[in-house]
Amino acid sequence: MTAEGGLPGSTGAAGTGGADAPGAAAGPGAAARPTYRLVAIPGDGVGPDVVAAAKRALAATGACFGFEIAWTDVVAGGAAIDAHGVAIRDEDLAACAASDAILLGAVGGPQWDDPKATVRPEQALFAMRGGLGLFANLRPVSVHPALVPASPLRPELLEGVDMLIVRELTGGLYFGSRTEATGAPGARAASDTLPYSEAEVARVARLSFELARGRRGRLTSVDKANVLATSRLWRTIVHEIAAEYPDVTLDDRLVDACAMQIVRAPASFDVLVTENLFGDILSDEASVLAGSLGMLPSASIGARRTTHGLHGLYEPIHGSAPDIAGQDLANPVGTILSAAMLLRWSLGCSDAADAVESAVGRALDDGFRTADLWPRDPAVAETCTRVGTTAMADAIVARIGSTGGITGAAA
Ligand code: NAD
Repeated sequence: MTAEGGLPGSTGAAGTGGADAPGAAAGPGAAARPTYRLVAIPGDGVGPDVVAAAKRALAATGACFGFEIAWTDVVAGGAAIDAHGVAIRDEDLAACAASDAILLGAVGGPQWDDPKATVRPEQALFAMRGGLGLFANLRPVSVHPALVPASPLRPELLEGVDMLIVRELTGGLYFGSRTEATGAPGARAASDTLPYSEAEVARVARLSFELARGRRGRLTSVDKANVLATSRLWRTIVHEIAAEYPDVTLDDRLVDACAMQIVRAPASFDVLVTENLFGDILSDEASVLAGSLGMLPSASIGARRTTHGLHGLYEPIHGSAPDIAGQDLANPVGTILSAAMLLRWSLGCSDAADAVESAVGRALDDGFRTADLWPRDPAVAETCTRVGTTAMADAIVARIGSTGGITGAAA
């Protein structure tokens, strides 16, 4: 499940936390256990359930690998609109900026869904991405062998799927100027603009080449250069930067063709990089491969470093799932794997990250399944144990730090 590969410069920070080895702080005279400062944003719907599960996994990992976590809980999204009238307060954004990393559940829900409202839950996400300079969203997509029966794709198509989608996160349509609909019925019009600067393209392209270099050395740049001027700029800059990475093979793909290839031949991809809107859509499409939205983690990162690694925001790719909120039904794995990404990239604790990913793999190998992962085949279902959010987290926590019985691809 370590599908994301290396990160530029992250190894340089890896030792600084002093928490890379189990038992690093054991014994008299040992260095003080490092304390990492993390912000938790449970958010709305199932967010609090899955963040609580990931906090437990991080606490178990800290006990095993010799570090502490000082949590600051921040209210954001719909909960913040109800409590404070805004999606996130300035002082809470400042707490996020001062932390080593941020763990987020999800924001939003039907009670705040009025598209005409001037205050909306997702403004918290945009404020964090823009305000904290988190210009790249990374979504690793792999398929655990035990979950192949849960995917809608034929098993032979899932063989060897291991891709990393890099989505530009702070430019393009979502941040361009817009005009809301005006005019009388029958003559209404609205507009959105899709701006990109050379610097915005270059930084995410460079990050993607670095990531491809740390993996299988292949980068696919996705655009719509046959139609859009910003895509032609994107393609030009990506090719100019390619000259700095002769060891990485670059190919271009139009977004419509790429959408098809993700379901027809998903194993053909290594790293994909694309602009904000295309990345939003393609990464949700790719999530289907893994069997459930609840399985996949993500990291949003920028260029800023803390003492321990890159500053970043980590969250599952799913939303607040209001239909199952408060019922102990949510799959916590995407959030727990997001916590593993946090350990690796923001805290430099790659051994601890491996331990979490391995524990998730072993819990799946041992047959634990939340409802979203329940096998359709009764014969397979007979070998599985149906669990809720808390019991799935229990199964994973129990396997963190244990050494026996490692099986499957995630081990
Ligand atoms: P969703 O991801 O919340 O749910 C889609 C489907 O997947 C639902 O059937 C849900 O029950 C299921 N699902 C999601 N997460 C699951 C999990 N962990 N375990 C099991 N099943 C899970 O998407 P949606 O329904 O389109 O959106 C609901 C709300 O979430 C909306 O208000 C939307 O704006 C918000 N949202 C927030 C984020 C975010 O915070 N980053 C992302 C997407 C959507």
